[in-house]
Amino acid sequence: MQSFQKKFQEYRWDSIHERIYNVGHADVRRSLHKTKKTMDDFLVLLSPTASQSLEEMAYMAQRLTQKRFGKTIQLFAPLYLSNECQNICTYCGFSMDNQLKRKTLSSIEIMQEAGALKAMGVNHVLLVSGEANKTVGLDYFLKAIKLLRPHFANISIEVQPLSQEEYYAVHQAGVNAVLVYQETYHEEVYKQYHPKGKKSNFAFRLDTPDRVGQAGLHKIGLGVLLGLEDWRVDSFFNALHIDYLQKTYWQTKYSVSFPRLRPAEGIIEPNFIMEDRDLLQLICAYRIWNPDLEISISTRENEKFRNHIISLGATTMSAASKTNPGGYVVDPQSLEQFETSDERSMDEIRNVIYQVGYEPIMKDWDNYW
Ligand code: SF4
Repeated sequence: MQSFQKKFQEYRWDSIHERIYNVGHADVRRSLHKTKKTMDDFLVLLSPTASQSLEEMAYMAQRLTQKRFGKTIQLFAPLYLSNECQNICTYCGFSMDNQLKRKTLSSIEIMQEAGALKAMGVNHVLLVSGEANKTVGLDYFLKAIKLLRPHFANISIEVQPLSQEEYYAVHQAGVNAVLVYQETYHEEVYKQYHPKGKKSNFAFRLDTPDRVGQAGLHKIGLGVLLGLEDWRVDSFFNALHIDYLQKTYWQTKYSVSFPRLRPAEGIIEPNFIMEDRDLLQLICAYRIWNPDLEISISTRENEKFRNHIISLGATTMSAASKTNPGGYVVDPQSLEQFETSDERSMDEIRNVIYQVGYEPIMKDWDNYW
């Protein structure tokens, strides 16, 4: 099977770290003004030295985003199907060792939650679950997708890594996109954060986007959990992964998300703090490096940051999100994955987008079947 592993093994964490922290001002000037940007330029734009050119980077990111995507923001909301999980991840509220009551939505409950999202005007939905193959496996997903397909223009999933055949099956059932985050590309550190369960297999997770690409999905979303390791180095590897996928599965679209570690029941504190200014630099670096990339901002981020990022590189935003199964109407008190920061309603977010001079998009995609 085609795999990112080979490319990944050509790079060493420590040497990438050293290169990022030794970038000079002349390197930044050169990378900013090159017509076609490479991975080396992305590395330069991530550096502490480049942060001194943040204003110029923000201007370039704004211009490139408007040129490629217009003044639009695509809106979506998550629908959490289950918080059951067979993994221990030390940063997640759903971790198996978190001794709290679990919930998996029944078919009726899925439709009740879907009704609440439709009432808010949601047309693009992201189905999320913990990783519990026995109760929330392929059959469960296919049933949920069949129920939801007639009601939503676009369905994405963020669930446990599946096999290529399973990705093909969910795609045939109507899933357009798969989001799968490596969390961190530091292999030793990855093992510490994922001590138990299938997710502790670093290589299997690393190969997951390849299986999605081979199954022919329309879009793949990647990201790292910002706060586990040095965000600059982790983001270099995440971009390297996207670069490889774009060249290998060139008919697929790509998106990047920026989950910053948020509080949740029973979880660890971040090891590395990422300030708002750092996140802005990272978003601008991605945009300048890759003008086609969708850039997705979740409700983990605070209102002020989200208001600003609308015009500085974002293309997609979640809104009014509940991160627990049944969170909209069925069981608002169930265990949540993490606390959201921006709790404004869908209408409030739409109004903010209009106020910035952008257009909120609830549906830009439809299926013919
Ligand atoms: S991050 Fe995913 S796999 Fe890990 S505990 Fe949370 S839901 Fe389970």
